Amino acid sequence: MHEVSIALGMIDELMRIARDNNAKKVTGVKLKIGKMSGIVTDSLMFAFDAVKLEHPMLSSATILIEEVPLMYGCEKCNKTFETENLPFQSCPFCGSYSLKLLSGEEMHIENVEVDV
Ligand SMILES: [Zn+2]
Repeated sequence: MHEVSIALGMIDELMRIARDNNAKKVTGVKLKIGKMSGIVTDSLMFAFDAVKLEHPMLSSATILIEEVPLMYGCEKCNKTFETENLPFQSCPFCGSYSLKLLSGEEMHIENVEVDV
């Protein structure tokens, strides 16, 4: 499962952040996940809750996921717009297909709460 390897990568990252901050425990993690990242958030939370138990420093961490909407910028009229649809659509303002994906594919750790 794809989400397990993502969760393991997150654990590594969180351990590093905790060490850098001399933290005793990580209590909360806020993630930003793009709609188009291909990550199933429920699976990721499930995977994280399972793998965190192997790390006392992370075992009580709760995870909060913020979904990042799909945003496009039009290269013709320079307007930006948000959409629920999949790619390969046209600009709602001028109809152009020269669109640039601005957000919606990312997945990153936005914020980490720790106990020092
Ligand atoms: Zn346009």
